[in-house]
Amino acid sequence: MVNCEIHGWNPVPDDQLPVELPEDVEWRPTGESPLKLHPTWKNTTCPVCNGPATRETDTMDTFMCSSWYHLRYLSPKYDKGPFDPAEYDYWMPVDTYTGGIEHATMHLLYTRFFHKALRDAGIVKGNEPMMQLRNQGMVLGEDGDKMSKSKGNVIAPDVLVNKYGADSVRAYIMFFARWEMGAPWDSQGIEGAVRWVKRVWTLFTDSAADGETDKLPRTR
Ligand SMILES: [Zn+2]
Repeated sequence: MVNCEIHGWNPVPDDQLPVELPEDVEWRPTGESPLKLHPTWKNTTCPVCNGPATRETDTMDTFMCSSWYHLRYLSPKYDKGPFDPAEYDYWMPVDTYTGGIEHATMHLLYTRFFHKALRDAGIVKGNEPMMQLRNQGMVLGEDGDKMSKSKGNVIAPDVLVNKYGADSVRAYIMFFARWEMGAPWDSQGIEGAVRWVKRVWTLFTDSAADGETDKLPRTR
């Protein structure tokens, strides 16, 4: 799309498509399209008056990709179409979609819309992309607030993994709260998970018969 001060938005004429993107963009963490920072790409002429005009730089919204990535994941190397129909028949629809409640009003609506549009176009079968949606709970800071850098209540997994080991941290995260409810983080609670992992380890290593398994390292 091209914007002219006099004629507003107009589509690029068909005989000038495709509009090719520049190779020399700079990827900076601005939150904006890198095309906006490119010195020349956005400058063009108005299809109506041929006067100076600018191109739309938000060329492909992130929701465009998140609406159908699950289809491409079925066959990422497939080059005869957006996805391999045989893989589609085997895997789709998605059994369970796990995601935050914050996606309910945008991404998830778009995904369903895409699916139904693709269905109407004869590209996919079935009415729904997913059979079930589950919203996971949130792990809050120890103060009961949402974790945020500005509040200084973020619990960094790397620190815990270094101290307790990845298995203990994973076990604790899996079991410390109801999956769909979430809860405030509890630094003391992880000791229980550590003890449990140690018990499992000891059970296995102490009861291992003589032989190869006996060469496994001891926990203590
Ligand atoms: Zn114009």
